[in-house]
Amino acid sequence: MIQAALEQIYQALGEEGLKKARWQEKMRVWGMLAQVVGVALFALVMVPTGWAAALRDALGGDGTFGALLVVLVLMALQSLFTLPLAWYFDYRVERLLGTGRQTLAGWLLDYLKQGLINAVIFGLFFWAVYLVFRAWPTAWPTAWLPALTGAVALLMLGLYLVQPLVLRAQFKAEPLEDEALNERLRRVFERAGFAYGGVRVLRAGEKTAKGNAALVPRGGRFEVVVFDTLLEEIGPEGLEFVVAHELGHRAHKDWPWMLGLYGLLFVVGIALAHAALAWTAGCWGLAGTGDPATLPLLLLILNAWLLVAQVAMNAFMRSREFAADRYALERVPDLQAFERTFVTLARQNLADPEPPAWIEFWLHDHPSIARRLKAAVRYSRSRCGS
Ligand SMILES: [Zn+2]
Repeated sequence: MIQAALEQIYQALGEEGLKKARWQEKMRVWGMLAQVVGVALFALVMVPTGWAAALRDALGGDGTFGALLVVLVLMALQSLFTLPLAWYFDYRVERLLGTGRQTLAGWLLDYLKQGLINAVIFGLFFWAVYLVFRAWPTAWPTAWLPALTGAVALLMLGLYLVQPLVLRAQFKAEPLEDEALNERLRRVFERAGFAYGGVRVLRAGEKTAKGNAALVPRGGRFEVVVFDTLLEEIGPEGLEFVVAHELGHRAHKDWPWMLGLYGLLFVVGIALAHAALAWTAGCWGLAGTGDPATLPLLLLILNAWLLVAQVAMNAFMRSREFAADRYALERVPDLQAFERTFVTLARQNLADPEPPAWIEFWLHDHPSIARRLKAAVRYSRSRCGS
């Protein structure tokens, strides 16, 4: 049964699609490494040259608001510096895969919008980090750790709350016209005990051939947002399953857990950076931990740490995905719809159903499709037997 479903996926992908899917996996690894190398090169250009320190002096970075300015300018410079990497791994790779439909100008506009949203959220966060380090200029973490943890908690809340805004900035949306489908989804919500906030269809097809769906909070309810690309092909049963899966994440409180774990990794990463930055006092014109000119180094340490630490994050998220699949199968016990959904998702997103195990272990926050199918079949059998 699993074999038959896998067979269907390989057939849907075709030889060409499978080649692209495997290439996409490779690019995932190279993109991740290139990101860290880019951040490292930026630090190398800015810090030992004394440019970061000069910038801080020019912008009055010793002051409270000057520090914010230094953080924002350094973040903007880093975005410009790593733009070629983003161009290749976000834009060019999608074009070569045939999934990207944006013009270069359209992509650049999105990159800018995303950069502005990041500037607000992360800019304020890193500013807060430097203010905390200034307020407690000691190596002893018990002094600044509570304040740092508070700043990270606010960052995680900000990242959560900004999600609907990110979607709105990226895609135009319209309400779902299909009343019958609306009614079906309302019933899935009812069975799960959640207040139904309707469906919005994102006009993603102008930009990508890939498919996706999510739930976003809206006034105490959850709204289903679905890419038009996915809606066109997945069918009502498929969408029902996808929505039930997302409700599973909500029922299991995966979001707070995920943000909590991510926040913990952030705190550890910045504490590591604090230890390293303390050593830089007096080098390259830097003044130690409270100096915003150290931002390129802080970002490098944080990025390198997250490159490794994401293994823990991803392992946790994969386990939550299995749990959400089980939750969905309990409420929409239609294994065939489950399988058809994955055939569509694999074909649209050029997903390798059986990626190399080490790549899945390191970089995937979702289990491979083959493993999800196996788990679903095993689960459905055990339910029927009981
Ligand atoms: Zn999920």
